[in-house]
Amino acid sequence: MATIVIDAGHGGYDAGAVNGSRYEKNDNLRIAMAVGERLKRCGINVIYTRTTDVFVPLLERSRISNNNNVDLFVSFHRNSASNPAANGVETLIYNNASNQALQAAEALQQALVNVGVQSNRGVKRANLSVLRETNAPAMLLELGFINNEQDNELFDSRFDAYADAIARSLAQSVGVNCNPGNGGGNGGNNGDPSTATIRSIQTTLNARYGAGLTVDGIWGAQSKKALIRALQIELNMLYGAGLAVDGIFGPRTKAAIRNLSQGSRGNLVWILQAGLIAKGFETALDSIFGPRTATQVRAFQTANNLASDGIAGPNTFEVLMR
Ligand SMILES: [Zn+2]
Repeated sequence: MATIVIDAGHGGYDAGAVNGSRYEKNDNLRIAMAVGERLKRCGINVIYTRTTDVFVPLLERSRISNNNNVDLFVSFHRNSASNPAANGVETLIYNNASNQALQAAEALQQALVNVGVQSNRGVKRANLSVLRETNAPAMLLELGFINNEQDNELFDSRFDAYADAIARSLAQSVGVNCNPGNGGGNGGNNGDPSTATIRSIQTTLNARYGAGLTVDGIWGAQSKKALIRALQIELNMLYGAGLAVDGIFGPRTKAAIRNLSQGSRGNLVWILQAGLIAKGFETALDSIFGPRTATQVRAFQTANNLASDGIAGPNTFEVLMR
């Protein structure tokens, strides 16, 4: 099994770069954990140097890697500069890095450029402790400047897309072909859903409910209507609700909804998950109401001033289907 060390830079009393209330150590941990989750889903053995806000000395990070049989070491950082105009993404490797490290770094950098970055600063060589002292091919990613507002905006709004792209690239560099973004992640909320995920929802709506949608990856009015129709079809089949399948979420449709909660399964859960994803609350599309779906239901409820109980009932569906 391939093994990758995921190193979230800084931590504890070492905040890294700071911009107001935004600490590099927190951004690093967030993206590192999101990438690690995805790599695990690809069947890769993930070793974290930290999973909480603790200080880990630099040499200890390399030691963790060197004590294991590791294929790749990746350190996650945000850049900083006194000039707030400095921006963009770069990947660092050691001065005398192996070809393997260079190739992995170039692939990673390109994957992020493909998602979209403010500027491509390329792959650079540097004499940094974690790169020098780690035996495995090692790289250090600077995912935008923490003191550049547009880079922060990209970090937040494209968080899931970055995590997907990083994980896919790292997996490929250790010989694993995997698309960890499918099925969702545990990353940020309210990000734009990926067009691939929307396409997959549209395809299912067509196949399962004869929606006749153009599979274009864009969540527009027709897709919304198709999801409400799917909901009405399911409510009719499961509970004999006798609803008109008109794609309009009215009082009768609302009244026919029964609560879904953690442990629920089936097509109604799939419709709930599709609705959450379309609203930017990324979750799995597996028709199983698991802990992650519950977390995203709560997040959706909080964001929409609904009682945040993690139970998807009539009120939650009403807002979700808007
Ligand atoms: Zn740093």
